[in-house]
Amino acid sequence: MPIAANKAVSIDYTLTNDAGEVIDSSAGGAPLVYLHGAGNIIPGLEKALVGKDVGDELTVAVEPEDAYGEYSAELVSTLSRSMFEGVDELEVGMQFHASAPDGQMQIVTIRDLDGDDVTVDGNHPLAGQRLNFQVKVVDIRDASQEEVAHGHVHGEGGHHH
Ligand SMILES: [Zn+2]
Repeated sequence: MPIAANKAVSIDYTLTNDAGEVIDSSAGGAPLVYLHGAGNIIPGLEKALVGKDVGDELTVAVEPEDAYGEYSAELVSTLSRSMFEGVDELEVGMQFHASAPDGQMQIVTIRDLDGDDVTVDGNHPLAGQRLNFQVKVVDIRDASQEEVAHGHVHGEGGHHH
């Protein structure tokens, strides 16, 4: 059965950036299992997988707009240290959860520390990057009604709850 909406799909994948560095990979671990059509994976990769079947291998280059977005300088801001009450020691590279103006949770990364000023970056760490995926389709099955209702897969490789 080819990949389509409401299929639970297992893939082996390796993700590299344009410099050829491996950013993420399922190699040596379990395949990634996702619910197709539910936005579980980045749009560019989901689109490329439509109609593929078990055993198919593909190489997909996903532009930032179909991955984690363009890098936006507007998402970089300077906050006061007092905003980080309860954190013992701030360090460059630390990540925090914050709520964006639209109410979505986002991860912000500390980029710079200067006296009382803390420069934070709300861009996704992979924003602005073209992502190169090497993918092999390992398994495809119909998702259960419950999985479709939840918008994610259950069981092996999925949510346990
Ligand atoms: Zn669920």
